[in-house]
Amino acid sequence: KIVIDAPILIIGSGYGGAVSALRLCEAGKKVVMLEMGLNWEKSGIPFSNLLKPGKSAAWLKKKTISPFMNIFSLTPFTGTLDRMDFEHINIWVGRGVGGGSLVNGGMAVTPKESYFKEVFPDLDADQFYNTYFPLVHKELKVNVISEQFLKDCPYYKFTRVGEAEAHKAGFKTIRVPNVYDFQYMEKEYRNEVPRSALNTEVIYGNNHGKNSLDKTYLKKAMETGNLEILDLHCVDNIKLNDDTTYTLEVQQTDTSGTVVSDKVFNCKKLILAAGTMGTLKLLLKSAAVNNLPVHEQIGKSWGNNGNFMTGRNWVKPLSGGTGSKQSTIPVGGIDNWDDKEHPFFTEIAPLPMGMDVATALYLLINRVDKKGSVSYDASTKKLSLDWNGSNTAKMRENADYFIKKMNRANGGTRSHFLFNNGFGADVCYHPLGGCVLGKATNEYGKLKDHDNLYVLDGSLIPGTIGVNPFMTITAIAEYCIENLIRQNEFA
Ligand code: FAD
Repeated sequence: KIVIDAPILIIGSGYGGAVSALRLCEAGKKVVMLEMGLNWEKSGIPFSNLLKPGKSAAWLKKKTISPFMNIFSLTPFTGTLDRMDFEHINIWVGRGVGGGSLVNGGMAVTPKESYFKEVFPDLDADQFYNTYFPLVHKELKVNVISEQFLKDCPYYKFTRVGEAEAHKAGFKTIRVPNVYDFQYMEKEYRNEVPRSALNTEVIYGNNHGKNSLDKTYLKKAMETGNLEILDLHCVDNIKLNDDTTYTLEVQQTDTSGTVVSDKVFNCKKLILAAGTMGTLKLLLKSAAVNNLPVHEQIGKSWGNNGNFMTGRNWVKPLSGGTGSKQSTIPVGGIDNWDDKEHPFFTEIAPLPMGMDVATALYLLINRVDKKGSVSYDASTKKLSLDWNGSNTAKMRENADYFIKKMNRANGGTRSHFLFNNGFGADVCYHPLGGCVLGKATNEYGKLKDHDNLYVLDGSLIPGTIGVNPFMTITAIAEYCIENLIRQNEFA
């Protein structure tokens, strides 16, 4: 086995990992980052779009795994989109250098301050709203679509129709910022540059336009000369040594998923940023196979961020429609959060199928009043999730209320075309929690019962944040790593 020593190791190159890497590298530390997915930029392999799924479409699967219309067969490849299936919920995640930023819709939403305070009563909200959220807004290159372009562009008919219908039903709409460069989008619309968002590229990666982490945090970190990213390196388990260092068993694969090398990494400091599910799997599996100490709070307070998909079909399909051409980048949302009976936020989502399917798609984000929990089943060697219909009951009620109110005002039916019964309770894009800040960790993400192990990713957020989560994950990572460095944790 090849043995490699690295003082500071980061597992995962998503938001938490990228922030940690940049700030440590800026502080002059040498950092090695292990990422199980491919470095797409370095590979030179283009991302594929929704209508012609290719290499990037799915993580080692024989068929596409988008939430709908999986009619395409694939040759297994280490693609960007992966799905983990549990009994009552399917969880989608991004794989590759950049993590979820490669596949996500780029919606960059700052949570409501009142809800942030409720979720994180111990954090100084003023500091977050004055310092960390503005900082990540800048670093992630967040921008907003021009109202004129939105009004004129045929690719945004789905948003205009969605907003007009929401207003008619008495709902309040909001403009949603994004990391996709809208100046670029205007140029693609004028055919001055290659098309990406206007060419159905998104959940299998964007070839242009989107400021994913490889274009922002990771690029800056690489420019310091202190970061080494090893892609196609999957960490299998972690062992705590007597001298408080860690040893990791790692498998390097090729793009067909075949193991090409078994490696061992030794490190003094270990940052887990493998995303909520990845981090929980590593911790809980390592506890089972290596007796890694895990605090009793690990696996607790897990949630789907209230994700609940639903949709509407028009009664007379061709009478209205959402447009045959649709941008993949959502810019509109419905904000019903302050309604005491039915608090939710929903994205007016695109459905770029290449034809007018006269269907509106919504991803609701609800409160998560009943949390779930995650454990590791040693017999199946898989994570198991304590989560069922009782956790999503209130979300379903909200979706039902929303769809009925929209249909009463505008016509249409709940979409059975998209989901079996019109409700996608099992669709989760935002797994959060299980390693909650201040509970399973200290106030800055250092794991309890450990001297040199840190968690900096979505698992720090207790299952809910009320809006799309990457702004919050990034802001919390900034806050934690700044304080950890200040406390000389990485000296
Ligand atoms: P991740 O970004 O998930 O990164 C973790 C990384 O660790 C991955 O690259 C993974 O491959 C790697 N990894 C995991 N296990 C291992 C291992 N054992 N060894 C080595 N590497 C490992 N959020 C928003 O805010 N706005 C949106 O518009 C939005 N849209 C979304 C659309 C989709 C289809 C999906 C799936 C998600 C979306 N999200 C969105 C959610 C957002 O992308 C995630 O919340 C975010 O990426 C989580 O960040 P993270 O740092 O916790 O981990």
